[in-house]
Amino acid sequence: MATRVLLVEDEESLAVMLQYNLQAEGYEVEIAERGDDAELMIAENPPDIIILDWMLPGTSGIELCRRLRVAKSTRFIPVIMLTARGEEADKIRAFGTGADDYIVKPFSLPEFMARLKAVLRRTSPSLLQDVLKFEDLELDRATHIVRRGTREVRLGPTEYRLLEFLLEKPERVYSREQLLDNVWGRDAYIDERTVDVHIGRLRKALNRGREKELIRTVRGAGYALGGHR
Ligand code: CA
Repeated sequence: MATRVLLVEDEESLAVMLQYNLQAEGYEVEIAERGDDAELMIAENPPDIIILDWMLPGTSGIELCRRLRVAKSTRFIPVIMLTARGEEADKIRAFGTGADDYIVKPFSLPEFMARLKAVLRRTSPSLLQDVLKFEDLELDRATHIVRRGTREVRLGPTEYRLLEFLLEKPERVYSREQLLDNVWGRDAYIDERTVDVHIGRLRKALNRGREKELIRTVRGAGYALGGHR
């Protein structure tokens, strides 16, 4: 599953250049030109990482970063601040607000890419891993082989993508709409009940006999991998 980057930048030429280069490296990229627009997009479908310009129309980048760190659902999304403000006091303020890294404009593209990868490695290692694991479940992205214990689990393509997505952030609860957006794609014309059908198939494939149920239904919210109490 592609790593989803939200690029919040009002300088169009820079945003387009970064988007182009990120997409070339396999990232999925969305752009917001205003801080308040970005806040709505994040609430609707949280990205894996946010590249956040400091000076923005609407809500400023530093204020948006502060709000993201306060809210439970966005607290752990990595943020890289992008800014022309190279003063030490500004950097300290950015880190104090919860930014994971700080890149001063103008910067080189290779440096940007290297820092992005370093932040992802540190904050979300599962996004870059070939083998995802949770309890006795293992998914190998290179071979597409899924195992539960020693047993190989055979999955259809949709169930595979669904499981891969859930394995990237175990215990995180996703709404049906978020699963549709991330697994089927934003443009897919599919009913939310389709998600229930595929979750049902995935459960059936994962659970044999007395094996523990791994997918949790969260009433009124959606689904998560694990996190049973
Ligand atoms: Ca700006």
